[in-house]
Amino acid sequence: MDDHAPSEQVRADVAILGGGIAGLWTLAHLRARGYAAVLCESSGLGTGQSLRAQGIIHGGLKYALDGALSDASQALTGMPSRWQASLQGARAPDLRGARLLSRYQYLVAGQGWGSRVTALFASKLLQGRVTKLGAKAVPEPLAVALGRSAGCGIYQLEEPVVDVHSVLSALAHANAEALLAIAADSPRLLYTAGHLTGVEVSSPQGQKLEVRCEHVVLCAGVGNEALGRGVPTGAAPMQRRPLRMVMLRGALPDLYAHWLGTGTTPQATVTSHRDREGRAVWYVGGAVAEARTHQEPRAHARAARETLAAMLPGVDLSACALAVLDVERAEGRQVDGSRPNAPVLHHAGGVTQLWPTKLAFAPVVAEQVAARLTAEDVRPGRHPPPDTRRWPRPVVGAPPWDEATAWH
Ligand SMILES: Cc1cc2nc3c(=O)[nH]c(=O)nc-3n(C[C@H](O)[C@H](O)[C@H](O)COP(=O)(O)OP(=O)(O)OC[C@H]3O[C@@H](n4cnc5c(N)ncnc54)[C@H](O)[C@@H]3O)c2cc1C
Repeated sequence: MDDHAPSEQVRADVAILGGGIAGLWTLAHLRARGYAAVLCESSGLGTGQSLRAQGIIHGGLKYALDGALSDASQALTGMPSRWQASLQGARAPDLRGARLLSRYQYLVAGQGWGSRVTALFASKLLQGRVTKLGAKAVPEPLAVALGRSAGCGIYQLEEPVVDVHSVLSALAHANAEALLAIAADSPRLLYTAGHLTGVEVSSPQGQKLEVRCEHVVLCAGVGNEALGRGVPTGAAPMQRRPLRMVMLRGALPDLYAHWLGTGTTPQATVTSHRDREGRAVWYVGGAVAEARTHQEPRAHARAARETLAAMLPGVDLSACALAVLDVERAEGRQVDGSRPNAPVLHHAGGVTQLWPTKLAFAPVVAEQVAARLTAEDVRPGRHPPPDTRRWPRPVVGAPPWDEATAWH
């Protein structure tokens, strides 16, 4: 890249760095309110965590299992209906182009959970969102488990599962003229006399662009750590939590289910997807992905398959191909390193550094960024949308089942 190449310049109100779910939803939200905004992405859109998410729009149930119905769990409570409204086109952003994989998650509670689950799910907050299923209503893959295990209860949770690739594609398509593909190491926050004036980026071909703006939002997931160093007060503290997800490919029925273990993290969470050749893939998270990250990948995947086989006696998993995916969750740092209950946003020097904590919280972070702009008196309508027609556009990345190199 030529350091002396003259920069092109555009004017905007806001520049967003990072195009996962948080960046794209925030972009859509701000543009709908009349802000001139651009989003700069250094790789495929969503390639950090969003495309690797299971796509579950949580409704606060995990917090309920903790026994603590905190403010955070109440915020999460509204997320399934908030997302459903967008998926049906009743609220912006319009996600009618996205795919809903399932309206429900199933929860399998083994012996030992019985009375506890019943008491928790009877709470007012959760009423109408959890249904205990009778034997006839239990979906096929879980029916055998129900029959064989005394004291096992199966619940239907109002927690939809979305196809994340299609959500990102719908958001990217509707906001295509505001998307800029940039080189990974290029964004540089610009300050004059301590005041933010914008951000300078380079295209993958080395062409430079200065986006002059009042506010910058860092939505780069793990990339926020490096980008935050450009803020005069320094990077907001971040934590990384490593996971080793497991994928099974084969003749598998569609299944969207959690199995409760001993703690409040489900023992396993399965979501079902199709790879680009139409083959069925189970994507497995929960405790099986959080434990044993030191294990050799094949052994890790086989152990997860054994755990699933024990929980699903009616499903033959022996012929499935297996793969693992190592991925890090990026979150705002917590004193004890635990998972935050809510999105984490830090505002300093005209820059918001944020981590949504969950895909489900994307609408909340977008609203919080808009509120911050209002508080900083950054008003919409001051600038026309910037003309970036000559700039390359990023595309949505690939889901993990299309990228896994080794299937065993
Ligand atoms: C395995 C797994 C499963 C999950 N399942 C769920 C779930 O079912 N439900 C749920 O609610 N949440 C889930 N989550 C959490 C959820 O995925 C994340 O909270 C959310 O996707 C984070 O979105 P983001 O936009 O902040 O970051 P990311 O998705 O990581 O996006 C960051 C983007 O920034 C880009 N970038 C990085 N550096 C730069 C830079 N220097 N300049 C420009 N761009 C840059 C990246 O390429 C990427 O596109 C899961 C997470 C993991 C890891």
